[in-house]
This record gives sequence, C-alpha cells and structure tokens, in this order.
Amino acid sequence: MKRNRPDQNQFSRRDFIKTTATGAGAAALTGLGVESMKAEGRPAHWDKEADVVIIGAGATGLPAAIQAVEGGASVILIDANTDVGGHAILSGGNVALGGGTSRQKKYGVVDSPDILFSDLTDWSVVEPNGFPDYRYNDKEVIRAFADESAKTYEWLVAHGVTFVEKAPDTQGGHACGNSAPRENHAAPLGWALPQNGGPLPPDKGAVTSSGVGLIRPLEATARKLGVQILLEHKMTGIVRENPNSGRVLGISASSQGKTVNIRARKGVIIGTGGHSSNVNFRRIFDPRLTEEYQVAGEPWSFQDASGEIAAMAVGASLWGAYNQSGEFGQNVTKAGWIGCQYGYVNLSWQPDSPIFPKAGASGLFVKDYQNVILVNLIGRRFYDETAGQFPANNYNSIKPYVPYSYLNAANLKYSPSNFLNAAMAGIGDTHAGGGPIWAIFDSDAATREGWRVTPPFVDVARGYFYSADTLVELAGKIANKYQRVPMPPDALQETVTRYNSFVDAGKDADFAKPAPKYKIQTPPFHAAWATPVIHDTRSGLRINAKCQVVDLNGSVIPGLYCGGESAGGFSLHGLARCAVQGRIAGRNAAAETVKG
Ligand SMILES: Cc1cc2nc3c(=O)[nH]c(=O)nc-3n(C[C@H](O)[C@H](O)[C@H](O)COP(=O)(O)OP(=O)(O)OC[C@H]3O[C@@H](n4cnc5c(N)ncnc54)[C@H](O)[C@@H]3O)c2cc1C
Repeated sequence: MKRNRPDQNQFSRRDFIKTTATGAGAAALTGLGVESMKAEGRPAHWDKEADVVIIGAGATGLPAAIQAVEGGASVILIDANTDVGGHAILSGGNVALGGGTSRQKKYGVVDSPDILFSDLTDWSVVEPNGFPDYRYNDKEVIRAFADESAKTYEWLVAHGVTFVEKAPDTQGGHACGNSAPRENHAAPLGWALPQNGGPLPPDKGAVTSSGVGLIRPLEATARKLGVQILLEHKMTGIVRENPNSGRVLGISASSQGKTVNIRARKGVIIGTGGHSSNVNFRRIFDPRLTEEYQVAGEPWSFQDASGEIAAMAVGASLWGAYNQSGEFGQNVTKAGWIGCQYGYVNLSWQPDSPIFPKAGASGLFVKDYQNVILVNLIGRRFYDETAGQFPANNYNSIKPYVPYSYLNAANLKYSPSNFLNAAMAGIGDTHAGGGPIWAIFDSDAATREGWRVTPPFVDVARGYFYSADTLVELAGKIANKYQRVPMPPDALQETVTRYNSFVDAGKDADFAKPAPKYKIQTPPFHAAWATPVIHDTRSGLRINAKCQVVDLNGSVIPGLYCGGESAGGFSLHGLARCAVQGRIAGRNAAAETVKG
C-alpha cells in the first residue's frame, strides 16, 4: 500500500482538529456530542458484510441502495431510527427535478441540463437581504446534478413513485432556479403519514404532495431487490485502513447496546441527513444557532452530524460553508405552530401519531399574527410580528432575468430587516443566540383564532405553554429550561400596555406592524413557545462529481461516498439533490473494483 507522504502543502486530520478547536487537540470532536467518533481501528472481526454499506435510509440512502443493488452490488442499509424515511418521509414531497423531464416536455416547459446548470450557478441572483442563492455552489457538484436531474425524475417513476398529475410548478420550491418551473409532487396514495398515524382520505391520496409518496415506494423497491435494511442501527464510526490514509473498509454501528462491525467490500455511502440537530456543530457555521432553536423533522429523526463527524475523523473536508447560514427561504423560519416544542409551519404532530408522546403537543396554528405579539426572554417586542422570512429564488422570481448579468443584483431593492436577525439579535448578555421567543395573547385572540388552549394542543407539562389571569403573574410563571433568566414581570406589562396604545393610535411606533388590530386585555393571558425553526443543512462534506468524499488535501478518500444534506457545495433545498446524489453515489460505489 502506497502511503500519502506529508509535505508542506498537505494538511492532516490532526492539523484540522487543532485548527478548528484551538488547544483542544484530538479531543476537539468531544463536545459535539459524539465522543466515540474517532477513526475506528480495524475491528477484530466483522459481524456482517456487503459490497456497499449505506448509512441513513432517507432521501439519499434509499435511491443509493436501489442504484447500487441494480449495479450488481449486495447492499446493507442501516438507519438509527425505528423506521426508514428520515426527514424525507415527513416532507412535503415537493421534488425539484428539471433539466428536461418528460413531465416538463408534456406541459411545454423548456428546460435542459445546461439551463439548469446555468440557473444553479448564477452568482448574480440575490435576495432582498443581499444573500446570493447560488453564488457559492460548487460547479463540479452542480454539473453532475444538472446532468442527472431529469434522469432521476424518470428513474423515480420507474421505481414506483407516483407524482400528482399536473404541470411542474413552484410549490415548495426555493433556490431551484429562475428559468423553469421544476417542482413535482409525490403522491402519498394510501400510505400512512407518520405525523398523523394514518393515510389521507381516499380522495386526497393521489392529489396531495407528501414525502410518504416518495419514501414508501422506494422502500418497497429496495426490499424487493434484496437490500438488507437494518433499523435501530446507529453508525458510530467509519473504519479506514489507516486513520488518515488508505481505503474505507466499513463502519461500526451500535444496536441495542451492542457494537456491530459491518464490512463494506466496495464502499460506504453517507446519507445521514446533515447537522441541524447538533448544536455545537451547527454553531461552527453560525454561532447564533444556540440550543433554544427548534429543528424541523424532530423528534422523528435527528440530523446529529454523525455522518460528517465520522468522515472528518478519517480525514474528510467540509465544503461550501457560506451556504449554511443563508437567511432565505425556509432555512430558518418563524414558528407556524406555537405552544409546542416542535412548531415548524408545515409539520404538526397529531395525537394519533406514534411520535406524539415524544412531540408532546400538536400546537396552535397561527392564522393571523395580528392576534399575538412576540416577545423575547426579557418580555420585549423586537419586530413586526406579521413579517415573514426572506424568499428564495424560484421560477420567475426575477423578471426580466438575464443569466449571469450583474443587473439582476443591481436591480434589487435591498431590505435588511427580517425576522431571523431580529429574533436572534439577543438581549445584550453573553449568550450568542437570541433566546426563547414567546407569543403573548389573550382569551379574545384564542377565540378569534379558534384555539383550544389545553393539551393535546399545547404542551403545559414540559413548559412550552403558560396561562395566568394577569400579565405579571404570566411572566412569573415562564420557567422552561431555555429561559435562562426570569422574564421581568414589569417589562411584559409595559410591553403590552405600549402595544395596546399602538392599537388605539392605529400605528405601531416601534416596529411598524401594519395597523395593529387587537388589544391584549382579556384574561386569561397566555405565553406560547414560538422560537425560530431551523430547517435545512446546506453545508457538509466535500464531494466530487462522483459523490466521492474528498479530504483536506483535495484527494478522494477511496471507498467513501456522500450525498444529500450531509454533503456540501450545493445550496438547494431538499429532496432533489438528495435523490440525485444518492443515485450517483450508489452507482459509483457498486462499480468500484477493489483488489484483494
Ligand atoms: C417537515 C419537512 C418538510 C420538508 N419538505 C420538503 C419538500 O417538500 N421538498 C423538499 O425538497 N424537501 C423538503 N424537506 C427537506 C427534505 O426532507 C430533506 O432535505 C431530505 O430528506 C434530506 O435527505 P437526506 O437523505 O440528506 O436525510 P434524511 O432524509 O433526513 O435521512 C437521513 C437518515 O439518516 C439516519 N441517520 C442519521 N444519522 C445516522 C447514524 N449515525 N446511523 C444510522 N442512521 C443515521 C436518520 O435516522 C435518517 O433516517 C422537508 C423537511 C422537513 C423536515
């Protein structure tokens, strides 16, 4: 075996660990919640083996598994969860595949791989906050996506996915290109939704979009083709010949307290879904993302960065880090459902869901933010509650659009204030994030919204919802684990009194909420958890066009692949890049020829 010879230009894993955590040395990965995540030594024996071993059975892992098995490989697919699907099964099932799909052609949409590539690498597309959707995408990665996008659409259909019969549109799309509508919608048919515990009504299954319609057919195909799916197996480390050189040989996993070593004769594919759930890891990219923020998709599955960290422990590089903190689209959103721990706008946990005991409550959906004010942990308002987050680029967002013209950016109306920054501005203490955000409202507001302010709609038991007959009493009650200082009762009272005066005046003198409509004056008063929600991971491991993982010296790590939210260099929301990269990784891993 030829060993890599370090030279002045080379950068070792140890260098990286030293640089990213000054003084912490090899212990740097400790504190990310993954103490065991060191380069695994070769185990004394392998418990299982296959040609290709895939970590994570979500939007990346399932296509990877099918593609690998169809390439002639035997496949083991593991998942830490009790079921397959990851975030993908909870998703809206809006799949942004274009570049000339049969459906685009059927409905007269002009698109091609070149147009798609041009769209997703256009540096000149900028949002009202100045954030560039595509500027920091890696052209090698995007070219591979553009060339495989339409093929992946046809491939999904051929492997059992039914899309709602309509023209491609923009529903659920962000950062998927200005030149053509590309969203297709997976139909859940009769499959049960994890968030509801049951299927949609018979007349809705074929006309609604849901991630169940993507995942369950792919799972069925994978099982039929002989993919061995091991649930409740959590990958704890990647085994490489030497910590910083040689082939990747397999993985270690933990299942029911036991270690399971799984040999991969040809390759290991990481499809673990990113790092949004790992507070220390996500703060590498954005220090404001402290522990109080919610993550869409929890508590079903967790994007705990285990894929990235295990790969970094065998020398992998991160890539495209700038994309991660994109303040656009639904990267970080205001809560849609309040009074519960998990309040992402497009996901409510219903009492019949098997996950409900973990979720705690289904939440109160805010139809009109005129009915509440939002205050920070010291009881102060901080912005116009009716404002949303920034948009992201989509079909026809920029009109007229001239690809790569600086005028696209020059014609932009810059508008810096937004919810995310206001919520995360903090209160001037040493905490890096903004702290909890509470929606305050009275019983009249609950009546207007049609809310029932009792369990199972609100989570009283775990401290995400409080009620009291006076505002002073309400502030005194708020005491969950994220409320690091008591809310000053006088401050909350003053905030509401001032807001009520704005209603009288018909004008919000502080944050220009358009004509504040309703006073907060009728007891009981309520405080409901409404902290921002983190959605996508848009940065991760460095990969090349073949989805091979690349190390800190720019060299391929033989036998290691990655796709989806754990891969970097690509700021596209969601399922499409995962499915495409899963296929690319599966195909290339199966085609590896390994000596010995
Ligand atoms: C509510 C919601 C709605 C969404 N709607 C859309 C939409 O309409 N359109 C769209 O394009 N995108 C949508 N998304 C985003 C989309 O679901 C994700 O981008 C996509 O699922 C990511 O795919 P992935 O393969 O990277 O990860 P996932 O699909 O999350 O799969 C990762 C899997 O890896 C497993 N795993 C993690 N760590 C380990 C480990 N150490 N060992 C073993 N297994 C592990 C997890 O349990 C999980 O099953 C939505 C997301 C959410 C949460």
